Amino acid sequence: MAPKMEIKCSVDTCHYWKSNYCHADNLEVNAQGDGIANSSDGTCCTTFKKA
Ligand code: SF4
Repeated sequence: MAPKMEIKCSVDTCHYWKSNYCHADNLEVNAQGDGIANSSDGTCCTTFKKA
């Protein structure tokens, strides 16, 4: 069974953002740049959609 979690987010320009939480049904996060993340700066929300 897929895990469910509460996702706090501050990206208020995203279509899925509401009151500091993500309301997307699914979330995809990927490494940026060369594809190897070494810190949280190297990760990115792929689900983001401009509001
Ligand atoms: S899709 Fe990503 S950027 Fe958009 S509200 Fe959810 S976590 Fe934030």
